Amino acid sequence: DFDYPHTFILLGASGDLAKKKIYPTIWYLYRDNVLPKNTKFVGYARTSQTVSEVRDKCKKYIKVRPGEEDKYEEFWAANDYLAGAYDKRIDFEKLNQLICKNEKGIVANRIFYLAVPPTVFEDVTVNIKNSCIAIKGYTRVIIEKPFGRDDVSSDKLSNHLANLFKEEQIYRIDHYLGKEMVQNLMTIRFANQIFCPSWNRSNIASVLISFKEPFGTEGRGGYFDDFGMIRDVMQNHLLQILSLIAMEKPVSLHPNDIRDEKVKVLRHIPAIEMKDILVGQYVGNPNGNGEEKLGYLDDPTVPKGSVTPTYALAALWINNARWEGVPFILRCGKALNERKAEVRIQYKDVPGDIFGGNTKRNELVIRVQPGEALYLKMMSKSPGMKFDLVETELDLTYSMRYREADVPDAYERLILDVFTGTQMHFVRSDELKEAWRIFTPILQQLEENHVQPHPYVFGSRGPAAADGKLAEYNFKYSGSYKWQKPSIC
Ligand code: NAP
Ligand code: NAP
Repeated sequence: DFDYPHTFILLGASGDLAKKKIYPTIWYLYRDNVLPKNTKFVGYARTSQTVSEVRDKCKKYIKVRPGEEDKYEEFWAANDYLAGAYDKRIDFEKLNQLICKNEKGIVANRIFYLAVPPTVFEDVTVNIKNSCIAIKGYTRVIIEKPFGRDDVSSDKLSNHLANLFKEEQIYRIDHYLGKEMVQNLMTIRFANQIFCPSWNRSNIASVLISFKEPFGTEGRGGYFDDFGMIRDVMQNHLLQILSLIAMEKPVSLHPNDIRDEKVKVLRHIPAIEMKDILVGQYVGNPNGNGEEKLGYLDDPTVPKGSVTPTYALAALWINNARWEGVPFILRCGKALNERKAEVRIQYKDVPGDIFGGNTKRNELVIRVQPGEALYLKMMSKSPGMKFDLVETELDLTYSMRYREADVPDAYERLILDVFTGTQMHFVRSDELKEAWRIFTPILQQLEENHVQPHPYVFGSRGPAAADGKLAEYNFKYSGSYKWQKPSIC
């Protein structure tokens, strides 16, 4: 398939996502010669502009290393841009004609990337279907969140898409599924006999999945306020990680076998209850610098008195034989003390203690970002004459272990997967349906009851009450673990 013409059409090519993420990504893929040889790129949006104007807008976000200049020129020469409306069939017919110019031969494939706001989504997909379907090859459509804002709107969107395209044509991006350590979860679990037998309620006390970001809404709170942290991060990214940690072993690595297992485990999770959620909203830090001084409600684009969470902690329960009674704690927030995304699998206390209560729990930490790492906290005898215990770790830090490895960006992997037709790392519609079933009732209750979020200071670890919740869900923090950065041998 890789010698045939391919066209990558970016709708919403004048936007933020296009310049910051999609154009840079397709350039890196082009530069690395991993795309089909005869691939052309077409930008489409209402804004009238030339390819060289698009190129200028992307400049700040694209890296071109010395020696790559000729290739970079070649990349832009393979680009075209067409201005048109999202709701006019005639404009999509012009788009079709433009794409056809590149389609000599018997097979030609098309990929549409929808980097447009949800309001024009229906028009765009109908027009693609009516005027731009490939007649000599495949048509694949990549879509970005939000996939609705609750179960009803998401079903509506899924049904709309199902009327136009087959599931094999739809690639719903959750870019967390493109991250190295998220992709590693299945290998860690199913290729290691030490973990397989202990990965259950007999051995694991709790699982904590966290996402932290050190900045606030940066003046874009108006957009965020309509969604909030639960919809923005927890219902999609964190739940995807949960399903990869909790699912049973799939029959094979075939994408549908994996996605079948993800759906199955989600079906064991009841909708979240009010007692199992804590929400927060950041307030300014009078001693902070710049943006840190401002709270969420100080953002002029945020409606006065908004109770939209910028932080949330929720415990989910999986009522199956493997996990009954084990809390899966999902936690995410903006304007916190650091940027990180990680998983902590905390094992139970050792039964039948002979060490005078001095053992600490094993904890497997999988750090997704920044700096991929996997470390297993464990107890050891302190080296030397004494018979004391020390907390230590088995440590696999990627930057130390795989110095030469070039870990690709999530978008690069995912867009390449669309070219190769690999749907393993994309969200299937039945997965999405389960995700909204779990989250819609609690989102509605929070909104209808106008639940006041716990305030927390910009730059802190989050609301003070959250640590108490962690303890309630059997996640123990002792504060005694001290990590020494290994010296390079
Ligand atoms: P954007 O810049 O606001 O919009 C993309 C383009 O759509 C704009 O350049 C504009 O192009 C057109 N557009 C904007 N508002 C419109 C309206 N009301 N009616 C018709 N057309 C409109 O959005 P974006 O940040 O690039 O995001 C695109 C999609 O990706 C959205 O669905 C967003 O939720 C999702 N997303 C974005 C990010 C991100 O990092 N930015 C991350 C995840 C998901 P023209 O006026 O030239 O037609
Ligand atoms: P830790 O010090 O035992 O902390 C575990 C986590 O508990 C913290 O990350 C923190 O996360 C949370 N916490 C902090 N204070 C708390 C409190 N009062 N109550 C409840 N929870 C609290 O172990 P660690 O974070 O795994 O390791 C310590 C440091 O060593 C980290 O900076 C880590 O990155 C580093 N380290 C690096 C590597 C490596 O690069 N390979 C390996 C091992 C350790 P939240 O703020 O998110 O709640």
